[in-house]
Amino acid sequence: MSALLSVSDVHVAYGKVEAVRSVSLDVSENEIVTIIGANGAGKTTLLNAIMGILPLKGHVTFAGENVVALEIEDRVAAGLSLVTEHRELFGTMSVEDNLQLGAFRIAKAVAAKSFERVYTLFPRLKERRKQLAGTLSGGEQQMLAMGRALMGAPRLLMLDEPSLGLAPIIVADIFRTIGELRSAGVSVLLVEQNAQAALQIADRAYVMELGEFILNGQAKVIATNERVAASYLGFQHG
Ligand code: ATP
Repeated sequence: MSALLSVSDVHVAYGKVEAVRSVSLDVSENEIVTIIGANGAGKTTLLNAIMGILPLKGHVTFAGENVVALEIEDRVAAGLSLVTEHRELFGTMSVEDNLQLGAFRIAKAVAAKSFERVYTLFPRLKERRKQLAGTLSGGEQQMLAMGRALMGAPRLLMLDEPSLGLAPIIVADIFRTIGELRSAGVSVLLVEQNAQAALQIADRAYVMELGEFILNGQAKVIATNERVAASYLGFQHG
């Protein structure tokens, strides 16, 4: 399988402080890849750099194209999309209007299909399509942020902490939907502190500590690693 996203020897710094150091990763078509790690490990910084929000040193190719020099909107046009921790919704606009904004680049007929797809993935958004985004629950806002990103028909959806601040039952719902994206032909790069949930749905995982990947492999194997279990899954082996 050739990589859809390929990141090689990437460094990202805030002034003189390197927050991401020599990181390499790839994501294939129809693959869910997760990056797990503690607070401040550099996960958000890496996603922002891949999206073009932060400058980086190193190589990033997407669908075979070098995207390092591209503006954010050109990366979006190439099929990359990022849902940030802040969700960035327009609170005084309806669910439907927020979704419409995610479709501004695409033709009307395609947008109609995108609405159908998003409402199938998130029936709750369909029920609440006339409601103002600012009045949705935290979980519904996360669904809307993901739905809006999907309206542009991305090939790779990057999600930064989708479970942040949500009740366990909603987290389960969101993660089930992330699993469904794979069958809908969307690859996912998922950054999570909720390692347990992330490792359950991901195909592969990278473990980040202090700006570097210390471990990577099949998610099932990573979940049984002693160090991962002790540090991120809250239990000791043996
Ligand atoms: P979290 O889950 O808390 O978001 P993270 O793994 O995503 O953690 P980052 O937010 O990428 O980690 O932070 C990585 C490092 O970079 C941390 O040491 C953080 O303090 C630092 N950092 C993040 N943003 C900035 C900034 N704007 N200026 C300077 N340093 C920053």
